[in-house]
This record gives sequence, structure tokens and C-alpha cells, in this order.
Amino acid sequence: MNNKYIFSFLFLVILTAVSLLLFNSQTSDSTTVPVNISEDEESVQIVEEEEVGEQLLYDGPYLSFAGFEGSNQRLLEELVTALPEELKGVIKNKILFINGCHQYALSVVSRCPYGVWDSSGTYPDGTKGAEWTLSIWISDRAFTAGEQRDVLIHESAHALSYLTRNCNTENNTSFRKDAWDYFGSEEQFADALVLYFGGSYNHYRISGDLTNEETNYISNYIGTCSEG
Ligand SMILES: [Zn+2]
Repeated sequence: MNNKYIFSFLFLVILTAVSLLLFNSQTSDSTTVPVNISEDEESVQIVEEEEVGEQLLYDGPYLSFAGFEGSNQRLLEELVTALPEELKGVIKNKILFINGCHQYALSVVSRCPYGVWDSSGTYPDGTKGAEWTLSIWISDRAFTAGEQRDVLIHESAHALSYLTRNCNTENNTSFRKDAWDYFGSEEQFADALVLYFGGSYNHYRISGDLTNEETNYISNYIGTCSEG
């Protein structure tokens, strides 16, 4: 073999090694689980490193809340992060978002509602002052039904309505109460907000799509009341 061939062969070996290295460094960011194989070839042991992060269950203060479910807590938090800025601006950092079955609501309606807005922190027996004052509960049932985003917006509308209860219209009347009159009730206002933010799940509103006037009304409400 002459030197030219030896050189080509060595070049190929080096090229292959470099490609492998590159390939490995590119895949190290993926979720591939590292596999350790013991060195004794007669007795191979394949040990998978435990996956960290993705599979971790929620670990935090909500664990002690009556009715906390938690398997959708991370998904719920992602939905909260993705809420429209207009809405998030008013309620963020003021409201707890809990994946769970609100126990007092359960006792009242005999099933886990998809969503619950609890302004006063209601214990399972109906007494007030629980740690979850100002909370929104989205149950596993809502996630199973695929309605979690719309339900979250509906409950967020209640939170918005409550938090801006001292905000007035240009006629110096409560915007909250004005909206009740305008849409027919607090519940119909909350359903209207679901439509306003691109959702579709409505439970109380039966008049369908928003009119332009209704859209402008909500826009004016949020614009006026999100400032203070
Ligand atoms: Zn409601």
C-alpha cells in the first residue's frame, strides 16, 4: 500500500470520528435518556438514568388544598402564561390558578365543575378564609373535555370583574354592574369574554357570536379598568 492510500484511509477515519463527535454533541440537547452499560461484557447491565424534569409531579403549597388534583397543574400554568396580555395584565400575580376539584362547589352541584372562581377562599364546609382566597380552579374534568382554555378564560373574566369592581364608566357608574346589565348577567359577561379572546365554549350565553358593539364594549371595559 502506498502512502497516498494510507493517507486517504487515515483521513476517512478522522472524518468519521469528527462526524460522530458532532452528531453526539448535536443530540445531547434532546430528551434521549443516557444509557450506561457496564464494562463486563459477559454480564451486561443497562441502567437508564432517571429522567429529570419532565415527569416531576407538582410539588408546592397547593398539595395541601382540599380537592387539589395536580396532574394538569403544569399544563394549567402554561395556559396561564399564554393568556392574552390584556387579560393577564389585570389578574397576574393576584390570583392562584389551581388544577383541582373545588370541594365546596362539588358539594353544591354534586360534581366537579369544570371551573370555579373563589374570591373568598371557601372551605369544603362553606366557611370562608381558606388559603385559596382569590383563586381559579380548573378541574381534570375540564382537561378531559378539552375545554380547559375556554374555562380558564371564563373564570379569569370573573376574576377581572371582581378585581376591577371599583372601576367606573365615563358616566361614573360601576363598570362591573354596567356589564351585568349590558350582557344580562355576570355569567353571560364571562362567556362573552371567552368569545372575545377567540374561544367558543359558552355555558350561559345563548346569543352566539359577539356583535361589533359587544366587542367594542369589552375592549373599552378592559382598556379603562386595566390601568388602576
Ligand atoms: Zn362563571
